Amino acid sequence: MRWTTRIAAAALIAILQACATPPAQTPPPPAAIAEARPPVTILISIDGFRADYLQRGVTPNLSRLTAEGITGPMRPSFPSKTFPNHWTLVTGMVPDHHGIVGNRMEDPAHPGETFTTANDAPYWWNAAQPIWVAAEKAGIHTGTVLWPGANVAWGSSATKADHGDYPGGIRPRDWLQYNQAISNKQRVDTALDWLRRPPSNRPRFLTLYFDRVDMVGHDHGPDSPEVTQAVAQIDAQIGALVDGLAVLHQPANLVVVSDHGMSETSDTRVVTLDLPADSYHLIEAGPFAALDPLPGKEALVEKTLLGRHPHMECWRKAEIPARLRYGTNPRIAAIFCLAEPRWMIQEKRPEAPFTHGEHGYDNRAPDMAALFIAAGPAFGHGTVAAFDNVDVYPLLRDLLGLPPRADVDGDDAPFRPLLRSR
Ligand code: AMP
Ligand code: ZN
Ligand code: ZN
Repeated sequence: MRWTTRIAAAALIAILQACATPPAQTPPPPAAIAEARPPVTILISIDGFRADYLQRGVTPNLSRLTAEGITGPMRPSFPSKTFPNHWTLVTGMVPDHHGIVGNRMEDPAHPGETFTTANDAPYWWNAAQPIWVAAEKAGIHTGTVLWPGANVAWGSSATKADHGDYPGGIRPRDWLQYNQAISNKQRVDTALDWLRRPPSNRPRFLTLYFDRVDMVGHDHGPDSPEVTQAVAQIDAQIGALVDGLAVLHQPANLVVVSDHGMSETSDTRVVTLDLPADSYHLIEAGPFAALDPLPGKEALVEKTLLGRHPHMECWRKAEIPARLRYGTNPRIAAIFCLAEPRWMIQEKRPEAPFTHGEHGYDNRAPDMAALFIAAGPAFGHGTVAAFDNVDVYPLLRDLLGLPPRADVDGDDAPFRPLLRSR
């Protein structure tokens, strides 16, 4: 029996039992059983879960959701990095528009400050409104069990001067400060604990975030047994979530995604930047390199880098190919170089391998393909044609009944034929 059907059947039996028995003679059934709960929406990210990990034979729970719901190949946005793509998934905008253009960035409007993954100063994030802010504004209680950007007091105009306290910002009503040490089980248990509360204090939209598959992918490479084991561990947690929801008789629309895939890297596949150290300022290197020439060195840097090289191509930001939808944001460096999948750009040749897996490459590269599965009462059954991850926000908006927004780059069209009318 479908798990959603199981939940509905158990709830129906409980309601029938409650109706059939004279109330005066028996104690009232527990509130969790007697109550017909409205469905909640749970957005789950398995960071770095490459689409083909589903074929490894270790994901019975994800495979069941796939069989019962909808699935399809999802393209990440460029660059295929964690923070840009998690922000795209919850805003519907490409990184060039939402402003989280890399995991590491600088902003001409805030000289001397650098964005790194731990940075929650709102001005980095304010250009695009995440789904939990739209929901909270509409009176929907939200709860985030981790998500890049969910610990930001969104909308506040405060800058670094008042770091730590951003009056006026909006956060999810329930949220957790990111800490890698929070176990996968604790993450699932936290979501279930929030759903165990009385109706007046219970989230209707939740996120869950797992970073283990990404971390192991970097350390051991996508084809390693360690990644397969990490995938199995997270799949077991998805199973625990589904079981916990059934115990609560809580119907749920689950949208399971990843932010990008993973490509095998090696210290034998390295492109070095052949530039004098005093000619440029490097913001980020790896699957791509973002750099600004120092004053007076523009011609030298451009002459050395622009154009095709073995395993790498470089552009002025305005000339980045249109298909990448990247290059207008002021936070993007003047010169941008992109490596072929499996290759790495470094300032100098490294002496030892740094990682065995990386992402950040062309978002259409097969290695970067992301996971997408959606199952629950709102979904029919079928496969969606290849789509971009900017379309996930419009889907979430439909599930929550929020109005469309004109600034969004995505569209719910890929999913509409597979959504059951509510
Ligand atoms: P990357 O693989 O370089 O794109 O970065 C992904 C890593 O970011 C994950 O493996 C997490 O360890 C880390 N991370 C995820 N969420 C947060 C957060 N909210 N704050 C700081 N680091 C995070
Ligand atoms: Zn990631
Ligand atoms: Zn990663």
